[in-house]
Amino acid sequence: MKKGELLYQGKAKSVYRSDTPGVLIVVFRDDITAFNGEKKDVLEGKGVYNARVSAFFFNYLEKNGIQTHYLGMEDDRTMAVRELKMIPLEVIARNIAAGSIVKKFPFTEGQPLSPPVIVTDYKNDAAGDPSINDDLIIALGFLTPDELAFVREQTLRINLLLSEFFAELGIDLVDFKIEFGRTDNGIYLGDEISMDSMRLWDQETGESLDKDVYRFGKGDVMSAYARVVERITDEMRGGNA
Ligand code: 5GP
Repeated sequence: MKKGELLYQGKAKSVYRSDTPGVLIVVFRDDITAFNGEKKDVLEGKGVYNARVSAFFFNYLEKNGIQTHYLGMEDDRTMAVRELKMIPLEVIARNIAAGSIVKKFPFTEGQPLSPPVIVTDYKNDAAGDPSINDDLIIALGFLTPDELAFVREQTLRINLLLSEFFAELGIDLVDFKIEFGRTDNGIYLGDEISMDSMRLWDQETGESLDKDVYRFGKGDVMSAYARVVERITDEMRGGNA
């Protein structure tokens, strides 16, 4: 498939038109950023890790009945995806309190959240991705009430599937962010599912195996990402996924 016009350059991914109508090409770059782009670096091979993990999870979720934009890999950092009209929301599922909710609300870091908590941010860098509630989402026309219920239900199901998978690897899925988009056929999971957009804690050591390693200078982020990729690969070899 041929890469055409650059449509969108995000902080870590570039999206191109392809020579097939309705299909876009996503390139996972080696850029890593934090704090709304204030901290940034290039880490060789990081894009390949994130592309591989995202492809794995899109496949896994599809097998379990979740519609995703994933169509296939073009090379080790390049993904063919269904073209979606993206909904400008970051949907965040949380199983354990960490990150921004500990700063904003009286939770303690590491406090289990059962049932899981879903929050939504309006995807807008200039405004610092502010929190948004259901009434605002509907008033702004981002989702209808039925679509909102569908997104919530899909997010809870994705959370269950991913949490169970990571538990098998000895990893707690603390939280993650996903994004959805639409075609005429309905709402699909888009964007990525990678160590950039999840919090993963090793169940034995409590170590972070995700972008927090980079955000807070907790060690070598590439070896943390590699450990996740290795454990997923081992699990795949074992035939459990
Ligand atoms: P928090 O709200 O605590 O900063 O983030 C919650 C979860 O969503 C974390 O796993 C974090 O990595 C993810 N997340 C939140 N905002 C973004 C974002 O703008 N980009 C990415 N890649 N992940 C995000």
